[in-house]
Amino acid sequence: MLKIAVQKSGRLYEDSIRLLKECGIELNNGNKQLKAAAFNFPLEVYFLRDDDIPQYVYDGVADIGIVGENVLLEKAKDIDRVYRLGFGKCRLSIAVPKAMQYKGVSDLKGLKIATTYSTILQDYLTKNNIDAEIHEISGSVEIAPGIGLADAICDLVSSGSTLFTNGLKEVEVILQSEAVLTANKKLSAENRAILDKLLLRINAVKTAKNNKYILLNAPNKQLKNIAGLLPGIKSPTIVPLQEEGWSSVQSVVNENDFWEVIEKLKEFGAEGIIVLPIEKMIV
Ligand code: ATP
Ligand code: ZN
Repeated sequence: MLKIAVQKSGRLYEDSIRLLKECGIELNNGNKQLKAAAFNFPLEVYFLRDDDIPQYVYDGVADIGIVGENVLLEKAKDIDRVYRLGFGKCRLSIAVPKAMQYKGVSDLKGLKIATTYSTILQDYLTKNNIDAEIHEISGSVEIAPGIGLADAICDLVSSGSTLFTNGLKEVEVILQSEAVLTANKKLSAENRAILDKLLLRINAVKTAKNNKYILLNAPNKQLKNIAGLLPGIKSPTIVPLQEEGWSSVQSVVNENDFWEVIEKLKEFGAEGIIVLPIEKMIV
């Protein structure tokens, strides 16, 4: 039985549970219980505060956990980062009052910086040779300069609107963060095998999201060009149409190249292009 720690409520909760669901794992989830067992996979889910997850994984109370990279680095426990999950994206940044003239990191010298991320901030300051005072507080960091508690802050940012409403401007990004799957370094062979199965499923879900299934009709004289644009997993499927001189091409296209590929396909005379989402993709 593999034990996974996830945030019990907050920004990572829903995406974490959705991911398990997309992996076909159904939870016996009596609301707000401390733990839930999966019906159809050897997994037990522990619901915890995100700050506690690295410690629990390190101690082996949980075998694996889903946590923001920011928390993982801040807690600095000797545990593995096994997979970047692509949700919970944010950045850890330094912000100063809007009115401050800020030219570069050396302007932080001698300032008092409020944060809940003192480990990461100290690392950053040391690397940049900056001597500044870190004032560790446990929450509402963004109001610290306004009430005279600090000169600057170091906090998580996504849109920047919280900074703006508190009269602050973002001046340095010190970490780009997203949720990661973390694991204890000494998993039993049995749990390692369960983790591998889970990773195969996570990979299938994530790969599917990054790709689309594409079907189109192509004039035979352009098949080489069109197939070149759509290498697919191994190679595209090409089936003759009943109409002489035409074929149906089926393949997979990456989300990142999507529009560029569509434009070129049209230039090569492709018609009737249909694009479908993929639910799972095992390559
Ligand atoms: P807990 O009660 O579990 O301690 P919390 O209040 O510390 O919750 P949340 O605000 O729910 O934590 O954030 C959890 C994680 O979500 C953060 O550690 C970070 O990785 C990620 N995240 C994504 N966007 C943001 C954001 N704009 N602000 C804060 N965290 C964000
Ligand atoms: Zn927290």
